[in-house]
Amino acid sequence: MKPEIKDLLLKVDKPARYCGGEFNTPIIKENADVKFLMCFPDVYEVAHSNLGIKILYFMLNERPDVACESCYMPWVDMARELKERNMPLFSQETQTPVSEFDAVGFSLQYEMSYTNVLAMLELGGVPILRTERSEDSPIVIAGGPCVINPMPLTDFIDVFSIGDGEEAISRLADVLAEKKKNGMSRARTLEKIAEIDGMFVPGVSRGKVRRAVIDSLETAFFPTKVQIPNIEAVFQRAVLEIFRGCTRGCRFCQAGMIYRPVRERTPQTLKRYTEELIDNNGFDEITLSSLSTCDYPCLRELLAEIKPICDERRVNISLPSTRVDSFEAEFVASGRLSSMTFAPEAGTQRLRDVINKNVTEDDILSSCRYAFEKGYHSVKLYFMIGLPTETDEDLAGIADIVKKIKYCYKKHATSRKQLSLSVSTSTFVPKPFTPFQWEAQISLEEIERKQNYLKSILRPLNIKYSYHDGKTSRIETTLARGDERMNGVIRAAYESGCIFDSWTEYFNYDKWTAAFEKCGVNGEDYCGEQSLELPLAWERVETGISREFLLAEREKSRKCELTADCRKGCNNCGINREYPSAFKKNCAGGGKC
Ligand code: SF4
Repeated sequence: MKPEIKDLLLKVDKPARYCGGEFNTPIIKENADVKFLMCFPDVYEVAHSNLGIKILYFMLNERPDVACESCYMPWVDMARELKERNMPLFSQETQTPVSEFDAVGFSLQYEMSYTNVLAMLELGGVPILRTERSEDSPIVIAGGPCVINPMPLTDFIDVFSIGDGEEAISRLADVLAEKKKNGMSRARTLEKIAEIDGMFVPGVSRGKVRRAVIDSLETAFFPTKVQIPNIEAVFQRAVLEIFRGCTRGCRFCQAGMIYRPVRERTPQTLKRYTEELIDNNGFDEITLSSLSTCDYPCLRELLAEIKPICDERRVNISLPSTRVDSFEAEFVASGRLSSMTFAPEAGTQRLRDVINKNVTEDDILSSCRYAFEKGYHSVKLYFMIGLPTETDEDLAGIADIVKKIKYCYKKHATSRKQLSLSVSTSTFVPKPFTPFQWEAQISLEEIERKQNYLKSILRPLNIKYSYHDGKTSRIETTLARGDERMNGVIRAAYESGCIFDSWTEYFNYDKWTAAFEKCGVNGEDYCGEQSLELPLAWERVETGISREFLLAEREKSRKCELTADCRKGCNNCGINREYPSAFKKNCAGGGKC
């Protein structure tokens, strides 16, 4: 390590975040044609919990012609020290300044990290505006779920990788290698990148840009040897992606729409990955990851295969995203009773039907009863406020569910401990490419009124109630549904000092409001109801889900009509026509057991 970096690290909190040298770090090839920097616009501990960047980082490093390094958003003390010492932000592995890479790729998981992208570019010595970059500047790439609407970031990002990254980033690396070998200009390189499926290059791409979809996960790269962070990550465990996509069709859920179709891995492949993940990394927990793990048709078979392996090595298995209607606690590793988390999202059956959350109160209570009989004594419930058509009666329904769960515990608990029950609410954010993409978000005053109402009805029940800050949700909506005018707002917010907007202690609503005013942009344009007739900013992207399907789902929501899980039969969402090969191999292909 260079002495000036060593000296710098002695001055900051948690220096292990910036040291590099993590266990399982691949050898960085010195003479590789392409130097790629994988960036995450949040701190080290959050970055190391993300599977997407691990997949691309290790996939690129497997290529003989690419050396891929990593870089995370430095905490405020480190950012300040770098600026004061006039030192550039550098990579973890070789302490190379960001500006010296051929390509710098950001994974955008959450809209509230956008100002951190600008901060990382500036700290790394890369011009924030793409039009100000020179032939020598890195090509700045962004991927991840947020880029399904790339429009608010078109001033800053050279290339958006939309959809599945495995094949697209590999083809992009081919173009970067060609650039290096043939001395291709930046402009020509961007033109060639724009020809790759799923790549949107502002100023170059013409017409609609199709989301990249890989036909099969079976043949896609999956890393079973991953870096072990120097300090504990937010989620410190092995992650096994069992399938991608979701068939449930919840009408508010962007992930459930934009990752269609469901693509599953076979139990045989997953068993092999489990063994490798445990042997290579030394984790004591493995999580079976997906948007709705209990919907995996081969779950029983898979658990029967991997449980003995995990038990023998004392590795706990966890099932995240557990839906209350398909709770399978019997499979959760015995001996470690933790909290149960359910997300009914809405307090009444009427509203759950509006959002197509195919879950009944009976499902919730029977899952709780099962868990209480097994000795669980802690339940966390997640709801949303401000969903379309919501009334106070729906909010009162939350209190009713809580009362029934308390009664259920009294009747069926085998634990002698007191029931620990908590309710958490977030505010509905209408997201692009969902049936609710045209809906208004409730006003800040209404968010606060609903939160206060819930406080008043939950307080007498003596349970913990927490809620997400409404101001953050308002800004999140403007960024999620933003058009190109939001570029100026993001830049103005950043220049006024906004960073770490997803961290409560750093989020500054007044600075964001001032940024809107400075740019003459009305936030209501994005938070209010969107016209059904006019094209939407994000419709520059073609996801494969048809507008007609989304409109029909919106109509059905108004009538409280349900749409069945498409594992039971195709609902004609458009994937079947736009991506026929992925459709045939997955939707129409049946389970893999
Ligand atoms: S094509 Fe049919 S089965 Fe496949 S995701 Fe769409 S609705 Fe579901």
